[in-house]
Amino acid sequence: MKQDRQKGLDGLFRPRSVAVVGASRRAGSIGRQVVSNLIRGGFTGPVYPVNPKAEVVLSVPAYRSVAAIPGPVDLAVLVVPPDAVLAVAAECGKKGVKGLVVITAGFREVGGEGIVREEKLAAISKRYGMRVIGPNCMGIVNAEQGYALDASFSATMPRPGAVAMVSQSGALGEAILADAAQAGLGVAMFASVGNRVDVTAADLLGYWENDPNVRVILLYLETVGEPQEFVEVARRVSRKKPIIAVKSGRSDAGALAASSHTGSVAGADVAADTMLAQCGVLRVDNFRDMFALAQALLDQPLPKGPRMAIVTNAGGPGILATDAIAGLGMEVAPLLPATEKALRKALPVEASVRNPVDLIASADAARYRAALKVVAADPTVEGLVVLFVSPVMIDAAAVAQAIVDETRGCGRPVLACVMGRQRGDEAQRILRDAGIPVFRYPEDAATTLRQMLRRTRWLERRPARVPDFRVDKAAARRILRKKGRASGWLANAEVEAVLAAYGIPLPASRRVRTPGEAVAAAHELGWPVVLKAEAAELLHKSEHRAVRVGLRTGDDVFAAAADLIERLKGKFPDVRLQVQSQAQGHREVLIGMTRDSRYGPLFAAGLGGVLVEVMRDVSIRVGPLDGKDPQEMFERLKGAPLLAAFRGAPAADVATAADALLRIQKLVVDFPEIAEVEVNPFILAEKGKRSVAVDGRLRVEHA
Ligand code: ADP
Ligand code: MG
Repeated sequence: MKQDRQKGLDGLFRPRSVAVVGASRRAGSIGRQVVSNLIRGGFTGPVYPVNPKAEVVLSVPAYRSVAAIPGPVDLAVLVVPPDAVLAVAAECGKKGVKGLVVITAGFREVGGEGIVREEKLAAISKRYGMRVIGPNCMGIVNAEQGYALDASFSATMPRPGAVAMVSQSGALGEAILADAAQAGLGVAMFASVGNRVDVTAADLLGYWENDPNVRVILLYLETVGEPQEFVEVARRVSRKKPIIAVKSGRSDAGALAASSHTGSVAGADVAADTMLAQCGVLRVDNFRDMFALAQALLDQPLPKGPRMAIVTNAGGPGILATDAIAGLGMEVAPLLPATEKALRKALPVEASVRNPVDLIASADAARYRAALKVVAADPTVEGLVVLFVSPVMIDAAAVAQAIVDETRGCGRPVLACVMGRQRGDEAQRILRDAGIPVFRYPEDAATTLRQMLRRTRWLERRPARVPDFRVDKAAARRILRKKGRASGWLANAEVEAVLAAYGIPLPASRRVRTPGEAVAAAHELGWPVVLKAEAAELLHKSEHRAVRVGLRTGDDVFAAAADLIERLKGKFPDVRLQVQSQAQGHREVLIGMTRDSRYGPLFAAGLGGVLVEVMRDVSIRVGPLDGKDPQEMFERLKGAPLLAAFRGAPAADVATAADALLRIQKLVVDFPEIAEVEVNPFILAEKGKRSVAVDGRLRVEHA
């Protein structure tokens, strides 16, 4: 399956010949621009313009139809009107074309008839085994030697390089290419994927995974079509090469997940953020940050840790840089005493030898040299930000050269920030040519460093496989798919049976109707017990004071049971009782899942119990979770320290809850009709003692 998704992509990106169907002679038309780009780019194979009304397009002989082209055609770029696309696509299929780039718009994005047209295009692509990019896109580029393919209508083309890009937006694709060119970023491959009738961003990630020409991958995403597939592919590829994304658009998770606790705690726009983070994709706010980060990742080593040294010739920017670095969770830590001592010797008395090191305004190239030599040799420094506010009397180019010379090969990332314009351009060029990213403002340098550090942490993360759980799927099926099962909440007893079938530990319990039966059940279970009222409409029991804990005698149980029945029978005529063994644990957490219409299953882990809604301390991740995710979800909680050993209480056995969340994942994969499921609370004991799920709810929804 996974291999399949990459099959045939060479037909798109590495064709031996290209037809442009809808090639036009009209100046300013897309059909003409595509032919022109192919020629301008120096495509290595034949280009066949197809136009029934022209004999020649841009000095190249044209053909009346795809069928009329004498040689084989690997790639066809379609620029014909929307109602002609299907016929041309089928003709291409018959001709043996391997890949289609459908630039034409007027498909899914226009609704109605367009949706039908897009489905038909998908069918044609399947029937002939043709891979399709688009429709409604800007085209593709492969700068690789031996192809030099520019099958797009972009006005600008960056120089060849090591970056591959996917854009979901055609219009923005053009801007991205232009900006990349301006930022001096070289491009290996580019694809504007449009409506993604066939080829998705995830397919391209997989395609670039082992391509040695591609060292950094950039994504502009509006939506993620197949989130589960994206998560799986991106998680794998990001371990080999960095993936940077600008993601726009919001999730509707919050709106949909109305009635469940998990959903209301999950909130609205966490899904995209968490999805990208959990598969190691670096999400940036804008294209400027994206290009800067790409350049830094291409040219600079990753920081091993958060300790950054700042060398500046002006106090203010030094403070800005310090604030930005500290504000992003990194450190401007003291340098070694020996380093400060050496700096003291080398610098004038007015200079500050403590990090941030301030060389003061009179600093020339020689002073930068002396300081950087020492700082770059300090083993505690894990990254360097060199600031230079260009004063008139100082030779900026010489300072830039000093920065380059003294930090070369120091094994740590070096980022520069050049402020002020006087002779700054030359300095910037020298730095950039040496592979040192140059920023206008210290905050931007700090942002980039922070992302680089995130990548370091991601690569340090040891992924873990999900264990092969042995579960009783048949037992769960009997309940979930019981005859006549309608959409809605399951009864508590059913929820418990389903959870138990998937190996989630529950307290011993009995269901009874009268106070006398409750007392007998309590004697059987052993003390202390918990008494709960149950009824179909009674979803949040505590709100109705329908949970009584810490009952230690028969009299207690009888009185509590009588009171519950008496109070609740008016509102809930079907009220019954559950007697549960009281859990011995000391911490409450929740675990659960809600399905989002766009992102699929969203898993939750948080602090649990009746206070959870006030605290809203929940981690959300998009499925599929790997073996490590649940543990990390608990570690990322604000209240994580509460789960560790705390004020004399032992650490809670979080691993058991993490394991239970993976079992829930298996459950909701096995039964897609489960729309939401939540265990709250899962009462955690210390390690070695029994942790149990004392309350659960589960809702099925039939498509
Ligand atoms: P609801 O969420 O419907 O209000 P719960 O069954 O979650 O009801 O119970 C509410 C609280 O009572 C739990 O958060 C927990 O603190 C406590 N509780 C419930 N069952 C037990 C049990 N078996 N052992 C110990 N405490 C329990
Ligand atoms: Mg509860």
